[in-house]
Amino acid sequence: MLTERFGIPQISTGDILRAAVKEGTPMGVKAKSFMDAGGLVPDQVVIGIVQERLQQQDCTKGFILDGFPRTTGQAEALKETLALLQKNLDRVVSLEVDTEALVARLTGRRTCKDCGRGFHVQFDAPKVEGVCDSCGGPLVQRDDDQEATIRHRLDVYAQQTSPLIAYYQNEGLLASVDGMLPMTAVQEALLTVLRAG
Ligand code: AMP
Repeated sequence: MLTERFGIPQISTGDILRAAVKEGTPMGVKAKSFMDAGGLVPDQVVIGIVQERLQQQDCTKGFILDGFPRTTGQAEALKETLALLQKNLDRVVSLEVDTEALVARLTGRRTCKDCGRGFHVQFDAPKVEGVCDSCGGPLVQRDDDQEATIRHRLDVYAQQTSPLIAYYQNEGLLASVDGMLPMTAVQEALLTVLRAG
């Protein structure tokens, strides 16, 4: 929704890493064990990915970082990279969702292998189980969307990523959005805080 509204790319480190795992690149091979265990891929690897991606032509008018930064080390590296590129962040959004609601959303998440459309077995079920409504492709589950791994990912978030809330609050960049609201209300709230950025 945001990429369409603003006409800028979404840079998801998770998507880039999953593509590298699928292709079996050296970076993908290195990242896979961290990802399957629900831990973080080393800072050096993800920082390199973002530095390279931000220099591509489609980022000149702006970009949305998704899933990055996840540690204070990454946030510091991002600050340095943006300074070198003479760019800056307009806003950092914290999407706030209760732990049990997150577990329910992630365990039921399915994605079309062919077109990437997202579904949920309970909240946004496809017409035919396991089949994409848009393209007929097969729906797959992420390897790390098993409940035990999800709970570990949430612990990792609490330990390593949540300090970034105070970090960006200090920078005057943080906006919080209530992710428990219905999807359309979350989208409206996101647009409101980003337009104010
Ligand atoms: P995501 O798609 O954002 O949920 O990320 C999936 C997995 O990719 C995470 O659990 C990490 O193993 C890895 N990953 C994605 N982004 C980062 C990041 N910024 N720092 C470290 N690991 C990451």
